[in-house]
Amino acid sequence: MPDPHGFMRYDRELPARRPVPVRILDWKEVYPPAAPQLVREQATRCMDCGIPFCHDGCPLGNRIPDWNDSARLGDWEHAAESLYATNNFPEFTGRLCPAPCEAACVLGFAGAEPVTIKQIEVSIADRATYEPQPASVRSGKSVGVVGSGPAGLAAAQQLARAGHDVVVYERDDAVGGLLRYGIPDFKLEKHHIDRRVVQLAAEGVVFKTGVNVTSLDALRHDAVLLATGALRARDVDTPGRSLSGIHLAMDHLVQANRFVAVGQAPAISAEGKHVVIIGGGDTGADCLGVAHRQGALSVTQLDRYPLPPSARAEERDPWPVWPWILRSYAAHEEGGDRVFAVAVQEFVGTEGKLTAIRIADVVVENRVAVPVPGTEREIPADLVLLAVGFEGTEFGDIPVSPRGTIDCDEDWQTTRPGVFTAGDAHRGASLIVWAIAEGRAAAASIHAYLGGSGSLPSPVSPASRALAVI
Ligand SMILES: Cc1cc2nc3c(=O)[nH]c(=O)nc-3n(C[C@H](O)[C@H](O)[C@H](O)COP(=O)(O)OP(=O)(O)OC[C@H]3O[C@@H](n4cnc5c(N)ncnc54)[C@H](O)[C@@H]3O)c2cc1C
Ligand code: SF4
Repeated sequence: MPDPHGFMRYDRELPARRPVPVRILDWKEVYPPAAPQLVREQATRCMDCGIPFCHDGCPLGNRIPDWNDSARLGDWEHAAESLYATNNFPEFTGRLCPAPCEAACVLGFAGAEPVTIKQIEVSIADRATYEPQPASVRSGKSVGVVGSGPAGLAAAQQLARAGHDVVVYERDDAVGGLLRYGIPDFKLEKHHIDRRVVQLAAEGVVFKTGVNVTSLDALRHDAVLLATGALRARDVDTPGRSLSGIHLAMDHLVQANRFVAVGQAPAISAEGKHVVIIGGGDTGADCLGVAHRQGALSVTQLDRYPLPPSARAEERDPWPVWPWILRSYAAHEEGGDRVFAVAVQEFVGTEGKLTAIRIADVVVENRVAVPVPGTEREIPADLVLLAVGFEGTEFGDIPVSPRGTIDCDEDWQTTRPGVFTAGDAHRGASLIVWAIAEGRAAAASIHAYLGGSGSLPSPVSPASRALAVI
């Protein structure tokens, strides 16, 4: 029986991040592991509510109060069992998820700080074993999975454990999707992915890296899953765009990750430069952390939207929906300036080389940034990183929606029979937790399509959306 007074005995507390002056000298993760006692105390704050809204906040439907109670008791094995029942890769989500479950925690409704669900999740995951679970009976059916991000990997694991022969095709030289070469090591060290790949291989999944699938006809499988992500980066056509020194954020991040992985020196480096990041989201924050580690002289991050409030505005975003608030990542603690409600009017340069950007205050109306007259000014810049979003999948051998995403029916099947889709390729640029949830759900549909016995868990439908005010 969970402790009903736990949240009164313990305040919300996270482990201290590594000190900034130390951590910007390396690429290791920012959070050290939490002490077991701290995790147990924090898990004690969970009230095991009659209606746990955190379940609805999490697209995977993670059984949060169950594993909180096991963690409270220090029963890490049972906690991991509950966690794995709904989530193939809690070591990824526990590190990287923005935790919509915490926004939906009932303690937040009661005016208290939510349970540190994500931290408890990663603490359980890091104590869990990665024992392979190969299928005892083979189905004789084969599935090709295109793309090895969290959606493709989750689907591959579900299908292999159900007895199907699974081949994962990945155009990069290593498995992991955005987790591998998009997200920097200070958020996710890559040995976590390697360990999972070993487990999946032991469960029968075959990985073919360096294979860019361009034609569905070239694949010989009973079913195919397109989990190709939404990697088509958005660009800008602002005057001066052709000056040298302006790059897509992903080009910068991929090179930085390759430097950490294999020591390949990046062609785009922030070292000794005044850096301006255009875009206030996750990708921009990752560029900020990389720029500091590369030795930037200054970093400025621009956001076209106004400074969000620091706390939930109940009239706009009532509990338990995901609130629009100022989100600061570990990278923001490391330095740099954030400027809100501004947009670039022109890239300025001499002899073809970027030297500054001209910005103006803006008001966003119907998604268009309208400049405020008389507010134009210049800031120095030798490197601009464009982190302004993504425009859907790059996969070309299937019709896509105007958003660049692959449509599917309610069973995740595309317009082409036997070809399914999941993750960012279907949803548009989103989150790891949604990619895993969609991968699991698409695997359930593929299993049914192949005539597999029993049913696999299917936490979301293609129409599922985050909790919202209707
Ligand atoms: C910089 C950055 C930081 C992020 N940080 C976070 C975060 O902190 N937390 C969070 O929850 N989410 C974050 N996200 C979002 C998250 O990474 C994605 O939502 C998630 O990775 C999507 O998973 P996916 O499997 O659908 O696709 P992806 O991870 O994009 O994987 C798709 C894979 O398909 C491969 N592929 C594509 N086409 C082909 C082809 N034709 N043949 C073979 N292979 C192909 C690609 O190479 C890629 O490896 C971040 C995104 C970015 C860009
Ligand atoms: S996956 Fe994300 S939303 Fe789900 S329990 Fe973990 S942190 Fe919360």
